[in-house]
Amino acid sequence: LEKEEPVAEIAAPAESRVKISNRDRIIFPESNITKGQLADHYAAVAAIMLPWVGSRPISLVRCPQGRAKKCFFQKHDAGSFGDTVKHVAILEKDGHEEPYLFVDTADGLLTCVQMGTIEFHGWGARIEDVEKADRLVFDLDPDEGLDFENVRTAAFHFRDILTTIGLETFPMLTGGKGVHVIAPLVPKAEWPEVKDFAHRLAQAVAQSDPDNFTAALPKAQRKGRIFVDYLRNQRGATAVMPYAVRARPEAPVAAPISWKEMETIDAPSHFHIGDAAELVKRAASKALAGWGRADQTLPDL
Ligand code: ATP
Ligand code: MN
Ligand code: MN
Repeated sequence: LEKEEPVAEIAAPAESRVKISNRDRIIFPESNITKGQLADHYAAVAAIMLPWVGSRPISLVRCPQGRAKKCFFQKHDAGSFGDTVKHVAILEKDGHEEPYLFVDTADGLLTCVQMGTIEFHGWGARIEDVEKADRLVFDLDPDEGLDFENVRTAAFHFRDILTTIGLETFPMLTGGKGVHVIAPLVPKAEWPEVKDFAHRLAQAVAQSDPDNFTAALPKAQRKGRIFVDYLRNQRGATAVMPYAVRARPEAPVAAPISWKEMETIDAPSHFHIGDAAELVKRAASKALAGWGRADQTLPDL
């Protein structure tokens, strides 16, 4: 990866007032990583994470007994988080409102960790107007057996098509098996239009290279291919947030990278919880200057 002088200020770890209980509890039994280490990660990255996770409805992957025991995906507040975890009322399909969660401070992030959260996922819209997308996320999901070289080639192919139609994109390593190719949007188009756009784009990409891609939902059609999971781009769908820790054995971290870095990076789980200081430094580097920022709207397709 590029080693450069920082071009922006390196963010200091957050000083949080949230009391983390049982800091020595092992959350990642395969790697002996504790709740205290998880909390320290989120304090360290809070300043670089909040620009992405803050001010959008979020879902949490909570694993109170650790990642190897029962985990659950939480969208709504059960009323137990206190006042650092905030609420935004969102209309459900049946016409009633539910309190969705958002956090816009380090204390909010750490309260979630105190409550057993490992992963933070976010909507592709901001709380000011949840009906208008502020990002497209193309979630490239490789079939079992494909290696990262396939994912990398696919990501560049995807980038090139999006460039051709006038959308600038930014890659993120998920910490899992694939990458997310993200196109920021000025919030303007509403979900039905955004979903339709994403679906048609995914189909067009699949048609342009049917040996390597599929946009088909049936698992059988994904054999040996990369599934373009366009369904991240519908109302209520979420994607993992930058700098979130994944509930996987070695505690990998979802990490923004540059397209140049994508040429040489070895794995989507390149960064781990122990790399917080490096991630913070990288966020101030030239390689990541402007990452995730572009004034653009959906082009015609
Ligand atoms: P990978 O690179 O391994 O694919 P990923 O984060 O892209 O990592 P996916 O399984 O492709 O993982 O993405 C699924 C997305 O769906 C997640 O990012 C998350 O936001 C959302 N999700 C995960 N679990 C649930 C769930 N139980 N209910 C609803 N949405 C979920
Ligand atoms: Mn994925
Ligand atoms: Mn997916």
